[in-house]
Amino acid sequence: MSKFWSPFVKDLVPYVPGEQPKLANLVKLNTNENPYGPSPKALAAMREVLDDGLRLYPDPNGDRLKVAVAEFYGITSQQVFVGNGSDEVLAHAFHGLFQHGKPLLFPDVTYSFYPVYCGLYGIAFEALALDGQFQIRVEDYARPNGGIIFPNPNAPTGCLLALEAIERLLQANPDSVVLVDEAYIDFGGESAVGLVGRYPNLLVTQTLSKSRSLAGLRVGVAIGHPDLIEALERIKNSFNSYPLDRLAIVGAAVAFEDRAYFEQTCQAVVSSREQVVAGLQGLGFEVLPSAANFVFARHPQRDALQIAAALRERGVLVRHFKQARIAQFLRISIGSPAQNQALLDALGAL
Ligand code: PMP
Repeated sequence: MSKFWSPFVKDLVPYVPGEQPKLANLVKLNTNENPYGPSPKALAAMREVLDDGLRLYPDPNGDRLKVAVAEFYGITSQQVFVGNGSDEVLAHAFHGLFQHGKPLLFPDVTYSFYPVYCGLYGIAFEALALDGQFQIRVEDYARPNGGIIFPNPNAPTGCLLALEAIERLLQANPDSVVLVDEAYIDFGGESAVGLVGRYPNLLVTQTLSKSRSLAGLRVGVAIGHPDLIEALERIKNSFNSYPLDRLAIVGAAVAFEDRAYFEQTCQAVVSSREQVVAGLQGLGFEVLPSAANFVFARHPQRDALQIAAALRERGVLVRHFKQARIAQFLRISIGSPAQNQALLDALGAL
């Protein structure tokens, strides 16, 4: 705290990201990164633009990337917004689409950045309890609201909501934006992008940090009706004209174009997930059904925080959340086969 801080800054409660340790050789399963590298074609394309051209500003609209995303999904580039990580895209959506004087609705167990953005932009919210199986109860969202947001699959649970339930939400809330945060959709879920043509109140966000293994590049996208996209553009152009640099625009576009590599690496993560689930269950863990690149698990006899600390001593990082309802769970990212084995071996030794 300092006398130079505005009262607004004093009261902010910032998001706390998972640890990015400086130590080498850790088995890092705490922030849902992809164990496989980015598309080699995307890396090559970025190397190609790593030259004197960097003295020039990038395309402020990132059109090359918008076209690649539009082609991937068979939509138009007027339905696509791009930003510096999906966190930034989400921030603009909170700022531009959720500020309506009525509470934003989201699950009580969900991505912990949502309440942070509510604090930053002065948005009231109601956190609605997931059911006993940690599933979203769609019926609960039939109440006055200034918007609805949830990740699908949800984070940190990994649980998937069926598209049919999402459609019910959209139909029941024609006057609110329903934002489906699909950070993890490519690991087993069906995207709601196919619904954007029919529902002008649907905004879908995605990230290249997970299924396209570009967390270090910082690229996220939003897909929705051009009117929603225009709101995001207005915020973006009032904040930072060039959120994506030259490398990011090209690298992300080629990552979308390289469908084969994307499908192959997603499939590898999904098969590893099934093995990790079986291994954890063999050690007595209860594991929630996951459609993501992580699992959410608890041991009926062992304290989660103690397990996390003991794993850390053995060089394995997993994520623990000090939050009601989930304090006995660990969120474990799916790593390479060797990392997953190291995790199971360390747990076995405990
Ligand atoms: N949404 C969810 C549910 C996430 O877990 C994350 C990753 N922390 C993000 C959005 C943001 O991802 P990024 O900013 O890397 O695109």
